[in-house]
Amino acid sequence: MIKVEDLSKIYTERAKEVRALDNVNVEMNEGEIISILGPSGSGKSTFLNCLSGIDRPTHGKIFIDDYEITNKSDNEVTEFRAKNMGFIFQFFNLIPVLNVIENVKLPMLINEQKEKLAEEKAKELLIKVGLEDKMNVDVSTLSGGEAQRVSIARALINEPKIVWADEPTGALDKKTGNEILELIKNLNETKGTSFIIVTHDPKVTKFSNSIYLMESGKLRKQ
Ligand code: ADP
Ligand code: ADP
Repeated sequence: MIKVEDLSKIYTERAKEVRALDNVNVEMNEGEIISILGPSGSGKSTFLNCLSGIDRPTHGKIFIDDYEITNKSDNEVTEFRAKNMGFIFQFFNLIPVLNVIENVKLPMLINEQKEKLAEEKAKELLIKVGLEDKMNVDVSTLSGGEAQRVSIARALINEPKIVWADEPTGALDKKTGNEILELIKNLNETKGTSFIIVTHDPKVTKFSNSIYLMESGKLRKQ
């Protein structure tokens, strides 16, 4: 599903080069939970940003289901990302002026879908993540675990092939983090969505089908 060939990303800072990704070659299967572990500064965020088309690599090719993103224009990649990818962040990135269901609907409305359909899908997903009682509340009133459930529902609303999760348990206590991972596992099994979790939290591996380790810009399968 994901194929990466000779991927490198070099940042130049004050005439010094940082090789954030160093000739990564990898093929990742569809429908799995994949975790990418590694210490801070090893290149995990850079890898996520390049594979989701948010950042451009210095060298190499990236294919998502035979669609090469590395030879497309920024607009084409942005459109591809909106249709095929969802995102979950450490600090949830919810929009504070919108309530729970409005946050979940937003990516669907941005994709120019009908309001009524978005409302139906958002309700269905909020029930699935256990927030049927909180659909119309202000997001500032949610606990960390609830906020992450909202962001998971938002990530899934366009039925993406891939959901990228950047430290999804990083801001949560152990118990809540485990509940979020259980939910991701459940959604992976029932919907077949691939989740790629970038983290330094080793407990994520327990929920993963494949585990990769990033070290100094090099990626290897465990
Ligand atoms: P993480 O929590 O994933 O380790 P980082 O703190 O490494 O995140 O990076 C956060 C953001 O800052 C990323 O978008 C990354 O690209 C950017 N960043 C990291 N290091 C630098 C740097 N030396 N100069 C500029 N931006 C950086
Ligand atoms: P991680 O997510 O594993 O913490 P990052 O991908 O954020 O690692 O960073 C990998 C390396 O690239 C680090 O040395 C970081 O300082 C550097 N880096 C990341 N983003 C930038 C940037 N925008 N400019 C310069 N250096 C960066």
